[in-house]
Amino acid sequence: MKTAAFLGLGAMGVPMAAALARRAATNGGRVLVWNRHSQKAHAHAAEYGTQAATLEELGQAALIFTCLPTSADVDEVIGQLETHLSPGTVWVDCTSGHPDAAHLQRARLLERGVRFLDAPVSGGVNGAVAAKLTVMLGGPAQEVEAVRGELAFAGKAVHVGDTGAGFAVKAVNNALLAVNLWAAGEGLAVLAGGGVNVGAALEVINASSGRSNATENLIPSRVLTRQFPPTFGLGLLAKDTGIALDVVHAVRGSAPVLAQVDALTRAAARMVGPDEDHTALLKLVEQMNGQEIK
Ligand code: NDP
Repeated sequence: MKTAAFLGLGAMGVPMAAALARRAATNGGRVLVWNRHSQKAHAHAAEYGTQAATLEELGQAALIFTCLPTSADVDEVIGQLETHLSPGTVWVDCTSGHPDAAHLQRARLLERGVRFLDAPVSGGVNGAVAAKLTVMLGGPAQEVEAVRGELAFAGKAVHVGDTGAGFAVKAVNNALLAVNLWAAGEGLAVLAGGGVNVGAALEVINASSGRSNATENLIPSRVLTRQFPPTFGLGLLAKDTGIALDVVHAVRGSAPVLAQVDALTRAAARMVGPDEDHTALLKLVEQMNGQEIK
């Protein structure tokens, strides 16, 4: 019978908090929700049986989940909530955050007796709605095991290392997403320019070694349809490729492909627009080639 709180009811937060509420309904727990613009919290409570809470009330929660755009936003919320927190609370941050921030946030919260785990997620809005997200957990093993059973929105949860490791893995994962999108988009634009049917090319690639989530799912459903549904912002992807590059620099690594794709993704976010869906970066590839991918 735990009280959990979920802060940040955005594209991911709404279905993630709903999954927690479905679980709570079966075990006598309750889920408090908070959002910067509070009307979203009231709407969530009405639709999913959660309870809209004030910052003071959030202090009662044994488990606090956050899913905000950046670690800087999480810092801001920690600042607002800090004085209301109770010792023993566990803060599980599902933001795609920065490893350096995770260390600072953990140290800051430990001063209040609150443990911080980085727990970014993958699987998109569809994965969150289906409660099938992949969670990458960073923190001490014992603390990770203590929360594993509470992750009602997860289909898979993997302890990837100590504090910050979850954020590092997430950033590299999303850098690979960007690499795959860019490379597939370039290849398909060139093929289209040469008169090849893109649907036929994808049919072959998806039965061959060049396939990826970009070619199997994202490009057919979002690019070829010209819908580019805005479920994961291009600005957020550029933030992630930037974090991945910081991860490279932190170990003085050599990753020229990731560096190139970070620069391209940042340029696309500026030129196409940060609030466009991440797949809309292919609009820039199309401009560069004077060729629509269709
Ligand atoms: P959205 O932009 O849809 O939602 C952002 C949420 O954060 C909103 O609730 C917003 O509140 C809140 N917020 C923003 N800034 C602040 C702040 N300074 N203080 C308090 N609240 C704030 O983001 P997503 O749900 O798409 O993404 C959230 C995180 O999850 C990001 O780190 C993203 O990279 C990651 N992610 C996203 C995926 C996706 O498919 N969308 C998939 C996997 C990870 P308000 O409503 O008041 O503006």
